[in-house]
Amino acid sequence: MLATLLGTAVSLLVMAGLLTPLESWFPVAAARPRARAVVACVALFVFNTALMQLAGAPVLETLEEQFAAAEPPSWMRLLAVLVLADVAGYWMHRVMHRVPLLWRLHAVHHAPTELHWFEAWRQHPIDFLMHGLAVGLPSALLGASLAEISSVVLIRKVFTAFLHANVRWRFGPLEWVLATPLFHWVHHSADPRDYDSNFAGTFAWVDVLFGTHRRAEDFPQAVGLASVTPTEGIGTRSLEPVPPTA
Ligand SMILES: [Zn+2]
Ligand SMILES: [Zn+2]
Repeated sequence: MLATLLGTAVSLLVMAGLLTPLESWFPVAAARPRARAVVACVALFVFNTALMQLAGAPVLETLEEQFAAAEPPSWMRLLAVLVLADVAGYWMHRVMHRVPLLWRLHAVHHAPTELHWFEAWRQHPIDFLMHGLAVGLPSALLGASLAEISSVVLIRKVFTAFLHANVRWRFGPLEWVLATPLFHWVHHSADPRDYDSNFAGTFAWVDVLFGTHRRAEDFPQAVGLASVTPTEGIGTRSLEPVPPTA
């Protein structure tokens, strides 16, 4: 537990050291991070990581013991683990947007109207736990060790922080393959035309495969749930394409 919290603190410092300068040099929006938002997100990250260690890790460890691989991990298996983790995370995320009760939990993540890298961690603890278990499950079933699963989760967490960063970089054709800040900002867009798109956490092609990919030309003007009233929006966002409003 202590090692995990220490690893969490180190990864936090690394992300802050890398992403804070990028946000000030290449911002999408001029907004500066608010201290209250930083404190809330960091506190949630530490709490949720500890919760995952206590409640999620034992489940994955039990599964890993059942399905432990006889051979050491190969790069093929690591790639399979990354891809399957993303597909599982995609479906869990999509279900979160579909089921009213789960959307109420996930809406915590969509509440901010300004995005910065640390907003990746604004997650309800149950949302965090369910997502972590979904992402870890295929890895455990493939016999990956808890250390390998933790590495995959950590890689995804660092990458997810980048996806939320207030950084206006574009990546050309790579945007069809990998998730990028633009890809994920569209997921947070307040424009109804962007609803229920770009669910994947690592690979944009997963959304292409399942028909939910939306490649915008530019970053959305507004993000968050500001334009969605509770009665029309929460949990009832349709998976059907919404026709353009103008
Ligand atoms: Zn979402
Ligand atoms: Zn997000």
